[in-house]
Amino acid sequence: MGEIGKFFSWEIIDDITAIKNCDKSFFEHNCSGVPKEIRWFFDSKDIKNGNKILLTLIYQDKKYEAHIEIQNFESPRTRMRWNGDLKKEFDEVLKDYRVKSGKENGYPSIKFTKISEDIYEIEFIGLDLLNDESINPLETIEIENRVEGKRKKIYTTKYERNPKNRKEAIKIHGTRCMVCDFDFEEVYGEFGKDFIEVHHTKPLYSLEDEVEINPEEDLVCLCSNCHRMIHRRRDKILTVEELKEIMEERSVFA
Ligand SMILES: [Zn+2]
Ligand SMILES: [Zn+2]
Repeated sequence: MGEIGKFFSWEIIDDITAIKNCDKSFFEHNCSGVPKEIRWFFDSKDIKNGNKILLTLIYQDKKYEAHIEIQNFESPRTRMRWNGDLKKEFDEVLKDYRVKSGKENGYPSIKFTKISEDIYEIEFIGLDLLNDESINPLETIEIENRVEGKRKKIYTTKYERNPKNRKEAIKIHGTRCMVCDFDFEEVYGEFGKDFIEVHHTKPLYSLEDEVEINPEEDLVCLCSNCHRMIHRRRDKILTVEELKEIMEERSVFA
């Protein structure tokens, strides 16, 4: 076994696990540099100019051809290259990653798990986390429709987390809380600039419903306090008007 640790954009975790922080050339040129410190991980320690070490990469249960070679003869650098079919898969991953993470110029990380000396299973990491409903405190809420008795109203924060919806809502409604007028930049200065939470006001009738979102009517911009208060009762999501009324009643007595 060779050295464990961080080497440029790679991190060797143990003798069968390596993580690479992807960058632009990873996606554009379907290749990645392999620093000489981590050649051992890919069994290419003794690679010579002109050699090609063939590898199989397994991605989502499919096999793809790849190889390791010496990149340039004057100052030799090792790189891994994979075929165009895999590049197409990676392009989709990048698109997906950017939508879900809201990082327009971001790149995911990829994990290599050694199966044998020339077979490596690869998977992108961090993507499942972005899909995980449980990390959002404003979880999915179901409300029974007592009149009809059958269909359940479901409020889900799935539309609130979509960066495209967020952008649209903010463009239309601005970054001031539509209930209490709170403005993060006024209170927190430059650090609070552009911060606001987006709330989806319309219930769905099933979690699978893919409804067209009208950002002007279905989304509102709220400060974190008002957003929590609107979601406070599990059996009844308040409307902007209802929460405003509650606050106004208070101020009469204040
Ligand atoms: Zn507010
Ligand atoms: Zn909400």
